[in-house]
Amino acid sequence: MGVSKTIWMNPSEIIRVNRPDHPVLVFSPAVLQQTAVRYIRGFPGLVTYDVKSNPAEMVIENLAAASIRGFDVASPDEIDLIRRLAPNCALHYHNPVRGRAEIAHAVEAGVKVWSVDSRSELSKLVDLVPYEGCEISVRFELADETGAYDASAKFGATEDLAVALLRDVDEAGFKPSLTFQPGSQVTDPMVWDRYIRAAARIAEQAGVRLHRLNVGGGFPNHRKAGPAPKVEEIFTTIDRVAGEAFGEARPALVCEPGRGLVGDAFTHITRVKSLRDGGDVFLNDGIYGGLADLPLVGNIERLTCYGPDGRKREGATLPRTVFGPTCDPVDRLPSQLALPEDLEEEDYIVFHGMGAYSAVTNTRFSGFGKMEIVTALSLV
Ligand SMILES: *Cc1c(COP(=O)(O)O)cnc(C)c1O
Repeated sequence: MGVSKTIWMNPSEIIRVNRPDHPVLVFSPAVLQQTAVRYIRGFPGLVTYDVKSNPAEMVIENLAAASIRGFDVASPDEIDLIRRLAPNCALHYHNPVRGRAEIAHAVEAGVKVWSVDSRSELSKLVDLVPYEGCEISVRFELADETGAYDASAKFGATEDLAVALLRDVDEAGFKPSLTFQPGSQVTDPMVWDRYIRAAARIAEQAGVRLHRLNVGGGFPNHRKAGPAPKVEEIFTTIDRVAGEAFGEARPALVCEPGRGLVGDAFTHITRVKSLRDGGDVFLNDGIYGGLADLPLVGNIERLTCYGPDGRKREGATLPRTVFGPTCDPVDRLPSQLALPEDLEEEDYIVFHGMGAYSAVTNTRFSGFGKMEIVTALSLV
C-alpha cells in the first residue's frame, strides 16, 4: 500500500491522468477535519475515535489536528500507534477481553480507561491494574437490539450481570462507568434511547453513581442515495434521554465513533475488468479487498462511474451483479448495483463514503489487493 505526495483535484483527475489499474482510495483531510468539528460541536460530551476502523497515520494526525483528544484502542499495536502520533491523548482500552501480557503493556503505556463484560476479565484487571485514577466501564448489551451489524453477538453483559460487575468495579476502588456498542451504521436514534435508559436502570439497581457513560460508536456515514443521515438528531436524542433517565445523577458522556468520523473522508476508485458477455461486472476489487464491509452492512449506493477519459457516465441505470477479482464464489457484492447502461470495460466505478473498514481490511488474497492511498482536495 503506497502513499503518494501529490495532491489531486478530485477522483476524475486521478482517473484521467493515471488510469490506475489497481484500486485507489482517495482521502480528503478537509472532509475528515470538518466531520470531527461537527462531532465535537454537536455531541454532548467527549468525542473519541475508534482506531480500528481506519488506523492510517494521516487519519490519526488529522483527527488530532482537529482537536480529537481521546482514542478507543483494542490492541498493544494500536496503543503504541496513538502514543507515537498523539502522545497527550487519552487511551480507552475498550476491547473487553485481553491477555495478561496485553494488560501489562497497556499499564506500562499509561492506559487509565478500560472496559469489561465478564467476571473473569474483571478479576484480571483487579490483579494487574493499579486502581488509582483508573476507570472501568462495564459493557452491557440489550438482547433484542440488532443494528446493521450485531455487535452484541460477541460482547456485552446482560443487565443482571452488569449490575453485579458495576458494584464490584466500585468496591475495588475503580471509577465506575458503563458502556455499550449499539451496532454499526445505526440510523435510528431510538436505539441509543433504549440503551441509555437501560444504563440508568443498571446504575440504580447497583446503587452506584456513574462516573461516565460511553454511548459507543455505531454512528452512520453517508452510504445510501439521498440525503446524509442526520447525526445531529442522534446527538439531540442522546442529550435529552441522558437528562430524563439519570436526572441529578447524569454522568459525563463519551462517544467512540469509527465509521461516523472517517467514513465520508475517503472515496474508492475501482476499475471494470470485464463486462462478462455484456452482463455481470467484474471489478479489480472485491470483498477480500477494499469492499470487505459491504456484505456486512450493505452496498454503497453512492457511486459515480467514469470513462478512462475522466468523464462521467450519465446514462440511465440498470441493475447488475458485481463480482470481485478472485475466483472465490463468495467474492461478490451482496445485492445488485444500479449502474449506467453505457458502462464499458476499463471504466471506473467510484464508491463514496469508503473511509471505514476499507484500507484496513484489504488482504492480498489470491494475488490481488495492491492498493494505493492518495490525497485530493475534493472527493466528487
Ligand atoms: C468497532 C467499535 C467501535 C466503532 O464502531 P463504528 O461502527 O465504526 O463507529 C466503537 N466501540 C467499540 C467497542 C468497537 O468495537
